[in-house]
Amino acid sequence: MSLLPQSASTLIIGGGIQGLSLAFNLAEMGQKGIVVLDAGYWQGGASGRNGTLIRAGFASTAWSGLFKLTLDEWQSWSKRLGENVMFTRRGYTVVAEKAATVDMLEQGAKLHARLGIRSQILGKAQTAKLLPALNQQHVLAAQHQPDGGVAPHHAAMKALYQYCHTHGVGIHYRTKVTGIETTNGRAAAVMIGDHRIAAETIVCCAGGHNPEMAGLAGVSLNGHGMKIEAMALEPTRPLIKPAIALIDSLAYFHQTSRGEVVGGTEVPETPHISLRADVPVMADMAKIYLRMFPQLGPVRILRHWGGLIHASKDFAPLLGPHPDLQDLWFSAGWSYGFAGAPAAGKLLAQAIARGQTDARMKPFALDRFETTGPIIEGGIVVA
Ligand SMILES: Cc1cc2nc3c(=O)[nH]c(=O)nc-3n(C[C@H](O)[C@H](O)[C@H](O)COP(=O)(O)OP(=O)(O)OC[C@H]3O[C@@H](n4cnc5c(N)ncnc54)[C@H](O)[C@@H]3O)c2cc1C
Repeated sequence: MSLLPQSASTLIIGGGIQGLSLAFNLAEMGQKGIVVLDAGYWQGGASGRNGTLIRAGFASTAWSGLFKLTLDEWQSWSKRLGENVMFTRRGYTVVAEKAATVDMLEQGAKLHARLGIRSQILGKAQTAKLLPALNQQHVLAAQHQPDGGVAPHHAAMKALYQYCHTHGVGIHYRTKVTGIETTNGRAAAVMIGDHRIAAETIVCCAGGHNPEMAGLAGVSLNGHGMKIEAMALEPTRPLIKPAIALIDSLAYFHQTSRGEVVGGTEVPETPHISLRADVPVMADMAKIYLRMFPQLGPVRILRHWGGLIHASKDFAPLLGPHPDLQDLWFSAGWSYGFAGAPAAGKLLAQAIARGQTDARMKPFALDRFETTGPIIEGGIVVA
């Protein structure tokens, strides 16, 4: 543990992509005294364990508005961070196997047109042309987003880390927050064992551990830590060009430039928050891959792993201040938090540093379940 400071302007708990994106945006706006604390190692959380898919549009206005911004931000990151985050716009295709899903994708495409997100509906023949290796028997239609794509997490995480490091952000891995001190109705400091760091603002970006962070401050946060699993197949010839989501099979993957097919499927399993990768889950995932891409049959599984996300009650992000405790903020509830980090970092930084709450952030307020209600989003691949 490197030497810890006594105070911070914004203290961020969690050095995954959410925490680092927020630190970067705050530093870019000129804030000094930012501190990031992380219990584990760099890329040890979900930010180093995800499928790296970046999608532009969903079915709801709330999600699509946020992710339109995130796509724009992804495109500016390499320049602003001074390092290539390797975002490739190879396209993102959402495949429908059920009639109801086709309807949803069609409605979604109309919404995207209104929001300025490029997306088009492909019929059976057009889908077959774009994805010839896909088992056409199961396909009804698809929604293709030409500006979506992938970015390897190591590139984005390295660029964020380097920028923060060279712009005075104090980043401390292997430094677990064990307490959050509250005074006069506000979050005032964090404890790392006996060491106290006073902070003007505390932001929890602790992934699957966010509810636990709320608990440390004596408040509650809905949702729970949830393990999801992914795998990489050994390199094979180019079969799949865009990133894809098989929404009715709850699967998502892409083929890397090295030829590995990387992604995951949501298969029901007993909830637990260990990072253990389970062989029966791997077998179920492989069955879904084979059903949809029979040509993958002879390709061996190279790696298989688990990662922890925070599933909120409506599976949507929880962004903003906690309603019951002043100066405690969250970037939580992320299932698409790799893709969403550029937008979340920007909007939270604007709200914290300038007091401006952007209209695209408002729907994700923590108290929405008591006010506007849950966000209904049918286009996500989560079980
Ligand atoms: C298998 C898998 C596939 C996925 N695929 C995609 C995808 O294709 N596209 C996409 O957009 N998203 C995907 N996701 C989701 C995405 O990875 C997450 O939403 C995102 O990484 C969340 O970022 P984060 O910074 O909030 O969390 P994390 O990266 O988990 O970071 C949280 C950090 O908080 C730290 N922490 C926890 N407790 C404490 C404490 N007490 N004190 C200090 N630090 C603490 C942890 O050590 C950790 O580093 C996937 C996730 C998984 C697991």
